[in-house]
Amino acid sequence: MPHIQQLPPHVADLIAAGEVVERPASVVKELVENALDAHSSAVVVELRRGGMGLIRVTDNGCGIAPGELPTAFLRHATSKLRSPGDLGRIGTLGFRGEALAAISAVSRVEIRTRRQGDGAGASLALEGGVPGPVEETGAPEGTTILVRDLFYNTPARLKFMKKDSAETAAVAGLMQHLALSRPDVSFRFLKDGTEALHTPGDGRLDSAVYAALGRDFARSLLPVKGGGDGVQAAGFVTRPLQGRGSRAMQAFFVNGRFIKSQLLTAALEEGYRNQIMKGRFPGCVLAVSLPADQVDVN
Ligand code: ADP
Ligand code: MG
Repeated sequence: MPHIQQLPPHVADLIAAGEVVERPASVVKELVENALDAHSSAVVVELRRGGMGLIRVTDNGCGIAPGELPTAFLRHATSKLRSPGDLGRIGTLGFRGEALAAISAVSRVEIRTRRQGDGAGASLALEGGVPGPVEETGAPEGTTILVRDLFYNTPARLKFMKKDSAETAAVAGLMQHLALSRPDVSFRFLKDGTEALHTPGDGRLDSAVYAALGRDFARSLLPVKGGGDGVQAAGFVTRPLQGRGSRAMQAFFVNGRFIKSQLLTAALEEGYRNQIMKGRFPGCVLAVSLPADQVDVN
């Protein structure tokens, strides 16, 4: 065996980045979750060439202080966790402090941000994780992050990317789920300049369902509500006669996060036993809430 050596930091960083950032949809997910954690009420996602050309996420959230801008891109840099005890009651979406570090390690990033109430904003550009200077600039309140040339410095990963259309479809599905998980936030999604989704952010789940999943599906739904023991569930399910050909229209959210769960699928379908035709499946948009310390966010 050759001698054991610790990996040089930039190699370790690239490996770690690969675990967080697998494809454009993972970049979008992390950036939108950051926007939501920043209390944004409107989030715009733009994609070119399935995200391999460009990913831009614009929010109207709290912004980042100019002095903290480079820090945000360091590994294990987070404003969301201070002590081990915080792990048990984490209410935000991301907390590992790895996303911005990982994304910037494998792309060219530009960020422009202004804190609510600040007179001026700041911008920063990074290439392969290496930051340039922080510059004072004009900017709307909130944050815009632009990611270009994803995986330009990791050719192995680049080779594994699917067609642009497959990456676009993955992001489109993700945007639907994000929009449904937060009816109180307006989401807009543009692919190659065309608007593919736009939710009003009026706080009503039915508005988000209508905007994200379309009129026909929205019309096939009935409102449902239930709960007990600290667990609440609310949302919409399809009428028994309007079963679907697959489970693709089953969306479950636990404490605001989209999840796939055989348990919830089974519980839903149990409710339709003997009422739905063989080979047909109920659709739903169901939000389940339970105490934060009873969910493993991983
Ligand atoms: P994490 O979300 O796990 O804390 P990230 O690498 O995703 O780690 O982000 C690092 C930090 O940068 C966050 O904790 C937050 O303070 C700040 N940040 C990132 N994106 C935004 C944003 N859109 N608006 C405001 N602050 C942000
Ligand atoms: Mg994050």
